[in-house]
Amino acid sequence: MAKILSGKIMSEELTQEQIKRVGELKQKGITPGLAVVLVGEDPASQIYVRNKGIACESIGIYSRTLQLDKAISQADLIRVIDKLNADTKIHGILIQSPLPGHLNEHQILSRILPEKDVDGFHITNAGKLFTSQDSVIACTPKGIMYMLKNGGVELSGKEAVVIGRSNIVGKPVAMLLLNEDCTVTICHSRTKNLKEHCKRADILVAAIGKPHFVTADMVKLGAAVIDVGINRVDGKVVGDVDYEHVKDIAGFITPVPGGVGKLTISMLMENTLEAACNLAP
Ligand code: NDP
Repeated sequence: MAKILSGKIMSEELTQEQIKRVGELKQKGITPGLAVVLVGEDPASQIYVRNKGIACESIGIYSRTLQLDKAISQADLIRVIDKLNADTKIHGILIQSPLPGHLNEHQILSRILPEKDVDGFHITNAGKLFTSQDSVIACTPKGIMYMLKNGGVELSGKEAVVIGRSNIVGKPVAMLLLNEDCTVTICHSRTKNLKEHCKRADILVAAIGKPHFVTADMVKLGAAVIDVGINRVDGKVVGDVDYEHVKDIAGFITPVPGGVGKLTISMLMENTLEAACNLAP
């Protein structure tokens, strides 16, 4: 039976630590501030944005949500970002994805000052990660690494397999695992013999977006299985891993809900605190 890497417990511990750090910053006259920009009225995005606001409030970070019309032009959205870049109350800026199709996401994300890019999606931060320089690390990959290290999973020299190659999860987590001296394989929808790749993994990260995709026969005995997926099935949230069966084979496993998602929010708070410290005069 696998050891459960509980995002819920780890995030609660981090929250206590972060409350203290915010208190210390406030004594120095700095109130960390996060601006979340939501374009349109996607219901799931609204829930994510609300949860981010609640997380800020729970640790004492000032938060501001900008709800913008779904028809906003590229130029107007850029103007909003420029204003936030110049706003000394705001240390972190997050653009909630997905953006409406008429907007150029790469251009918008790259308009945020790299120092305020708490999502770690700016080309400068992504480039620094890929060249092993200190950078703002995207929240979900950063949370995954925290869970592995905090859970006592050995990384150096281990076989890591990441299923998924998105810019926000798959690619950055693969790079972070490589930086920790894992031997990394990235799999995707065109990968041949996926099961054979997965079976070799000491660390298996599933970031696919398909419910219960990773089954017990794909998992090596004792592997650390990290389930990033968030899928809604019959009104319930489930991951990409068939948790009930995989937990009997794996050495470590993250639940959904209560796993990676919790740490993603904690790392957003972490990145905002770090930005506030770095931007302080
Ligand atoms: P994307 O849709 O951007 O990427 C999914 C990846 O899975 C793609 O690289 C795709 O391959 C690959 N894939 C799809 N089908 C298969 C298949 N049959 N075999 C192998 N690979 C496959 O998703 P994201 O990376 O944004 O998110 C992945 C999941 O994680 C989603 O469920 C999302 O909701 C969740 N998520 C959770 C977060 C959290 O905080 N817990 C944060 C962010 C995301 P290809 O590139 O070839 O198309």
